[in-house]
Amino acid sequence: MPDSIHLKIKRQNGSRDLPRWEEFKVPYKPNMNVLSVLMEIRKNPVNVNGEKTTPVVWDCSCLEEVCGACTMVINGNVRQACSALIDKLPQPITLQPLSKFPVVRDLKVDRAVLFEHLKKVKAWVNIDGTFDLGPGPRVPERERRWMYEISRCMTCGCCYEACPNFNSRSKFIGPAPLAQVLRFNKHPIGAMTQEERMETIMGEGGITDCGNAQNCIEACPKKIPLTTAIAQLNRDTTIHGIRSWFRK
Ligand code: SF4
Repeated sequence: MPDSIHLKIKRQNGSRDLPRWEEFKVPYKPNMNVLSVLMEIRKNPVNVNGEKTTPVVWDCSCLEEVCGACTMVINGNVRQACSALIDKLPQPITLQPLSKFPVVRDLKVDRAVLFEHLKKVKAWVNIDGTFDLGPGPRVPERERRWMYEISRCMTCGCCYEACPNFNSRSKFIGPAPLAQVLRFNKHPIGAMTQEERMETIMGEGGITDCGNAQNCIEACPKKIPLTTAIAQLNRDTTIHGIRSWFRK
């Protein structure tokens, strides 16, 4: 094992600032992950040239690959820093922020667009919240499994990073919110507002902006069946379109 961990970190003061690379060496300890190395740098922010520098900024919360906040590009692959074990990474280890979202600082990005798209497709079940509604309607096991699979999405943004059809100028709603449309359309109460979701994804930036590159399913750390969900939605939008036409 090496006696130190060598990192090359892409640093940036904000989205309008030009990025620069800075290198660090941190004493090796067994069982470290990328976040624990960043924490070591924060304790003593001195770069590989022995110069005192500013602590590297990043985002994290759960530290167990559930919240998605520490998502970054590690050695060229988009993934969570909490589950990136140093012993399994070739060195020098390169760390870059997600490229599809505005950089707040260094490795921290603003993923607000993902949450705005979830709002756009009404990715929730309407409840009035004032009294106990009792047990919800029974759901067939097959549907429950589908909903559970999709509900594991942690809004990390890996699918956005991998998708060639999403960038800062595109209006594409993105793979994760599309999958959530299917998830909430399948819910017995969520289905009551499925018309609105379907109209949204049939509009600008909707499902027809998906180029079927299938990168999203490769990049998703939760292996959510994104492409199957999008294929199902393609069928559903066709049926919805025909029904709407007959209703005119
Ligand atoms: Fe991340 Fe997968 Fe959810 Fe996309 S679908 S945001 S890759 S967990």
